[in-house]
Amino acid sequence: MQENISKLKNLLSIQKQIVITTHRGPDGDAMGSSLAMFHFLKELGHTVNVIIPNLHAEFLHWMPGNKHVLVFEEDEELANKVTKNADLIFLLDFNDLSRISDFSKAVSLTNVTKILIDHHQNPDTSIADIIFSDSEACSTAHMVYDIIDALGLRNYMNKEIAECLYVGIMTDTGSFKYASTNAKTHRVVSDLIEMGIDNSRIHDLIYDNSSSNRINLLGYCLYKKLLLYPKNNSAILSLSSDELDRFQFKKGDTEGFVNFALAIKGIRFAAFIVEKEGVVKLSLRSKGNIKVNDIANKYFNGGGHHNAAGGISSVSINETIKILEEIINNYITNQ
Ligand code: 5GP
Ligand code: MN
Repeated sequence: MQENISKLKNLLSIQKQIVITTHRGPDGDAMGSSLAMFHFLKELGHTVNVIIPNLHAEFLHWMPGNKHVLVFEEDEELANKVTKNADLIFLLDFNDLSRISDFSKAVSLTNVTKILIDHHQNPDTSIADIIFSDSEACSTAHMVYDIIDALGLRNYMNKEIAECLYVGIMTDTGSFKYASTNAKTHRVVSDLIEMGIDNSRIHDLIYDNSSSNRINLLGYCLYKKLLLYPKNNSAILSLSSDELDRFQFKKGDTEGFVNFALAIKGIRFAAFIVEKEGVVKLSLRSKGNIKVNDIANKYFNGGGHHNAAGGISSVSINETIKILEEIINNYITNQ
């Protein structure tokens, strides 16, 4: 860590053109860590651009700095040009270039120094020159806080940075309830609140800001589409694109649905399957020692964390349910 901090300190001692990028389908931690880093590097006097592979959900659009974010899929030419001119690139909250999909071409073409800050397991270390990797960290946002602190530049943190870090930590810890939340997490959050953020308002903006369509979709999904396997402590939820259409689905609307299946007494493994833009996507969650990242990796070309992972299925929703039922029968019973 200390060696990386010294290297980073040297790199940041001269004004630079910096690009920050994060994973496809950017979530609260992806946007929170990226925008916090954006504000911090700007405070240091650098020219900074955040480039995300595709658009993030609307409930994150209020975040400070959001209007400066470039979306690769919306303007590839500009994103490629900015990346080509960069002399430093930050890769935040992902461990493999496949996670930034087509934007990876522009990133791999540059020879500039790349810095990875991430909390996923087994990062591809060939993608960056300086690697901050900590799979025990609750969020990338927490790691960004620690890095700023270790650089001795905590005095550059301002309310905007604190708001962004708070979003990252809050969303990736399930509002401070996952096992990754510890005393240190609360100390950092306490520090962020002392910087003047309105934590209750931020929680509201993220979680209590749904359209009635989203709440209706959630109700429908839980009432009509829940498959329970009580003997195997498992549950599956699914939604087809037709069902999404019926509720005027908007990006981000199904975020968090999987957690409701996990909230059922006795359930230790939950899967949510959704068909979006012709792709069958999975969200997997677990409690205790069931490693959903292994399941995502082995069966669904994905990955993630021990208790929260995701991936993609190459077959229909119904066939995906069958695959999951086999996994539940053969794997979850043996845990
Ligand atoms: P979610 O279920 O919220 O989409 O994703 C949960 C976690 O699983 C994310 O934090 C991310 O680490 C991981 N994840 C989700 N989708 C994918 C995927 O397609 N590939 C990989 N490698 N990881 C994923
Ligand atoms: Mn994260």
